[in-house]
Amino acid sequence: MEKKSLSCPVCQNNKAEIAGENVKLSGQFENKEFLTTELTVLRCVMCGYYMFFDNTAQFTAEEK
Ligand SMILES: [Zn+2]
Repeated sequence: MEKKSLSCPVCQNNKAEIAGENVKLSGQFENKEFLTTELTVLRCVMCGYYMFFDNTAQFTAEEK
């Protein structure tokens, strides 16, 4: 399994809360609709930046 050490790309903070699990995003790109695979959405507790990961990712910084 792939492991990521979590850090916010904006403020380098390493604490984030889970904002959503199994989230699918849809949208349009060049007049074609797309739907992503299921994603885990994390939100940086410092600056509020949203980070998206696919469900195969595991987080070494995750606290439960
Ligand atoms: Zn941040």
